[in-house]
Amino acid sequence: PLDKDELGRSTWGFLHSMASYFPEKPTKSQSADMTKFFNIFAQFYPCEPCALDFQEDISKNPPKTKSKDELAKWLCERHNTVNAKLRKPQFDCSKVHERWRDGWLD
Ligand code: FAD
Repeated sequence: PLDKDELGRSTWGFLHSMASYFPEKPTKSQSADMTKFFNIFAQFYPCEPCALDFQEDISKNPPKTKSKDELAKWLCERHNTVNAKLRKPQFDCSKVHERWRDGWLD
């Protein structure tokens, strides 16, 4: 089985990449489906304490799915909430596309 950290790293990679490739101007149904995706994801993420905290976090901070930039920023903030809980450094959310889509520019 994947351990919690390996699962987490791969999952964040998938989620941030998905957000960075979301349309700039999604249709209403793409926005609605992305919101549903995160609600379903939070129900079934296979680490129970992680899933329960993530459900609580996204119930207070629902997915922002009106554009790629909005979604990527929202997800970056959710990841930073988990980082804070785990006493990991905060990530600069202005660099999220650089990290997950375009490649580091330096
Ligand atoms: P990760 O946090 O996995 O990050 C991977 C890479 O993403 C980093 O190297 C960095 O380049 C980049 N990154 C970091 N922060 C951000 C950000 N804010 N935005 C964009 N990119 C960023 N673990 C627990 O022990 N307890 C939990 O309750 C828990 N909850 C989780 C909930 C979810 C939804 C997920 C997906 C994971 C959760 N994890 C939890 C796992 C945890 O977040 C880490 O994935 C794990 O500890 C491995 O950490 P890491 O240091 O390798 O980097």
